[in-house]
Amino acid sequence: MRYQSTRGSAPLLGFRDVTLAGLASDGGLYVPAEWPRFSHEDIEALKGLSYVETAVRVMAPFTGDDLSEADLRALCEQAYGRFSQAAVTPLVQLDHRHFLLELFHGPTLAFKDVALQLLGLLFEKFLTGSSEPLTIVGATSGDTGSAAIDAVAGRHGVDIFMLHPKGRVSDVQRRQMTTVLAPNVHNIAIEGSFDDAQAMVKALFNDADFSTRFRLSAVNSINWARLMAQVVYYFYAAVRLGSPAQKVAFAVPTGNFGDVFAGYVAAKMGLPVERLVVATNVNDILHRALSSGDYSAGTVTPTAAPSMDIQVSSNFERLLSDLAGGSVAEQMAGFEASKAMRLTNAQREGAAKIFASDRITPEEMNEAMRWAAAEAAQVIDPHSAIGLAAARRADLPADVPVVTLATAHPAKFADAVERATGMRPALPTRVGDLFDRQERYDVLPGTLDAVRDYIAERAKPRT
Ligand SMILES: *Cc1c(COP(=O)(O)O)cnc(C)c1O
Repeated sequence: MRYQSTRGSAPLLGFRDVTLAGLASDGGLYVPAEWPRFSHEDIEALKGLSYVETAVRVMAPFTGDDLSEADLRALCEQAYGRFSQAAVTPLVQLDHRHFLLELFHGPTLAFKDVALQLLGLLFEKFLTGSSEPLTIVGATSGDTGSAAIDAVAGRHGVDIFMLHPKGRVSDVQRRQMTTVLAPNVHNIAIEGSFDDAQAMVKALFNDADFSTRFRLSAVNSINWARLMAQVVYYFYAAVRLGSPAQKVAFAVPTGNFGDVFAGYVAAKMGLPVERLVVATNVNDILHRALSSGDYSAGTVTPTAAPSMDIQVSSNFERLLSDLAGGSVAEQMAGFEASKAMRLTNAQREGAAKIFASDRITPEEMNEAMRWAAAEAAQVIDPHSAIGLAAARRADLPADVPVVTLATAHPAKFADAVERATGMRPALPTRVGDLFDRQERYDVLPGTLDAVRDYIAERAKPRT
């Protein structure tokens, strides 16, 4: 499998190089040069398979010759062996048509573990035998950071620098990052928003000297391998609900457009997806883009669903490029200059064939948490509640099951859950004494120079 950049001028790369690079050298994102196709029979053959076996079948076309099937299976067994449920991503039924797909049974209690536990192992595998160190730089609105740090802490040959917006992540999210004291883990609290932090990370990657000198690599969802790992659970869930004979709809609480883009990939591969409902909070750039073609960034409003407090959705570029049938370099350059752009008619029409979108207010989010508790005895987190609110309001055929992706464990956002429902979810025992452990992090002003200097002082340059 070869991968090409959404901006058309970076070299084509194989899976290994795409995984280690993260961002393409022309500032674009890597996507497969063509989509693998699963026939009706291929999907039929997934029935009854374990999560790991499903993962091997779904991902093998993407990893190609860079990983043997036996190696892929071994990595999946190791990654998903760390989940607390044998099903890895169990489905829970809420009423006659609504289901939750619980993606939060990994070590850091959010869906990011599904991809990052595997990505950490892929890095290790692909770096074995290489003497060049790798420097992972990322920005997090909370959950990517903790999942990435858990996945690479103490691993040989890798340093990780994780930027989070100071005071804008939950206590559990912060502690899951800052209590990891392994010497290769560097936590930075930035004075600013997630978008500010992400813009700095992008600027570091676009600085060719810096990025080559420290061999920068990304674990944000701009990394293709993460999206690939997320495609698996769309197949796993749909097959359990009767696919390929049965169409299934998915509602996805969305920030960086990574998780829902994985659903789009599943549909491209042949999974019968009735609709993908993109659920945003009041930071609704994606809802505006999909409903009216207006992709323009406003200022971020902090909410009780901080992992979705995003105005610039990196992975949207992958959709725009797929719908445009090639490079979107010009369109993205325009957006980067003015922070606004319009979708073309072809992009709008293409997106409308499979996506719906909705914007959920804080009151509607709270109402969804209360509904799940009262009607289905399920305590759900604010992000999942945004998905569920959009799922229940979506205009979908009555005979189609609707799966809401439950992206975080409710205890990760216990204050917001308690405010809405009066119930305070307890942290699962597997996270242990999180609130008693020592924290370590540095606070930096939100300027590129401060971050660049900080990393340059601590990262290991190429020899
Ligand atoms: C990251 C995250 C999201 C948003 O996912 P994207 O892939 O960025 O769209 C939603 N909910 C939770 C809990 C998250 O951690």
